[in-house]
Amino acid sequence: MSTPTRAFQSLRLKNVGRSFGGQDALVGLDLTIRQGEFIALLGPSGCGKSTALNCLAGLLPLTHGEILIDDQRIDLLPAEKRDFGMVFQNYALFPHLTVEKNIAFGLEMRKVPKSEIKRRVADAIALVKLEQHIKKLPGQLSGGQQQRVAIARAVVVEPRLVLMDEPLSNLDAKLRLEMRTEIRRLHQSLGLTTLYVTHDQEEAMSMADRLVVLREGRVQQIGTPAELHNQPANWHVADFMGYRNLIDLTVTAVDGPTVTVGAPGFVLRGTAAQPVTVGANARVAMRPEDLMVVSPDVRVHTGNSVRATVSVVEYHGREFAVGVTGPDGRNLHVRADHAPEVGSVVELTADPARVLVFAADPVDPSALSVEERELLEVRT
Ligand code: ATP
Repeated sequence: MSTPTRAFQSLRLKNVGRSFGGQDALVGLDLTIRQGEFIALLGPSGCGKSTALNCLAGLLPLTHGEILIDDQRIDLLPAEKRDFGMVFQNYALFPHLTVEKNIAFGLEMRKVPKSEIKRRVADAIALVKLEQHIKKLPGQLSGGQQQRVAIARAVVVEPRLVLMDEPLSNLDAKLRLEMRTEIRRLHQSLGLTTLYVTHDQEEAMSMADRLVVLREGRVQQIGTPAELHNQPANWHVADFMGYRNLIDLTVTAVDGPTVTVGAPGFVLRGTAAQPVTVGANARVAMRPEDLMVVSPDVRVHTGNSVRATVSVVEYHGREFAVGVTGPDGRNLHVRADHAPEVGSVVELTADPARVLVFAADPVDPSALSVEERELLEVRT
């Protein structure tokens, strides 16, 4: 298969918004997608991912903003004129058509000559490795095979953009992993430009060149997997990127980028991921793999350690996932290269560079009860 004939340099979403009955589902989305990129739209359920994808696809009119391909507006074009391929969670195959006919459908609609249809369908079938199943109906295929048909059907028309909305969520864990690699391989080998919606951060990190993290309809951060992994823009992104330990502590000292945070019986040195001041409430984010249980006989002097009691140990192959309770009763998720005994006291250590200190969200007084508001007034 060749590179799409109507390829573009860049596709630009400018201040795109969509509301439903006055409720914002997507607000001010600015994003430029370059030819050949794989972009993942990532966020929790209800954050506006599908709304963004459907606006781009032409399945939902915009409430605000514009969509441009190489400076030409396309947001007023109907879906079928945008020349995009779509792959959905539920496959959306024609149940009465064979695999071959499902894949040929888009080419027949475009009145492509019969001999060319034959060749391109055969190529697409080979790409997704379905040669053994061409005469079967979708109902006679497994979920993974059906999703391969849906992908072949989307790419056979050589669309200038492929849109995928949680295409793997109906598959079992093993197949999801295989299909991830498969989709990434197809993206690369066909030179596709792909926008992929998922709520699975691991999936997004492993497949995409850049990720767009959404929360409550608003972009939180756009960046490469490494940027989001190492420098999440706020604690919400950190939470989504696997920083399972989010703890509220008070800032006790600030020395350039190094911040000391604490609570009674708990002192940690970390790195300011957002500006914070002494006395302020901070939300501290740490990934379990950055918080190591140190064996009593191997003392590591990072100058950054906390004592905790082991509450649960899970075997994870090469290492152990350990739940511990800190000195002030906080539960933390950590990793160990050995299985510490439940009930034993261990020392945890963390590199201050991997302890990210964020400003806690400002308190919204309107969301508080009368008692909480009175308390806040007394404190401030
Ligand atoms: P999920 O991962 O669960 O599919 P999502 O991130 O794709 O979620 P959207 O489907 O884009 O989220 O929904 C964003 C918000 O818009 C939600 O609050 C949802 O209830 C609302 N919404 C979406 N479609 C409609 C609609 N047709 N009518 C009214 N509200 C809608």
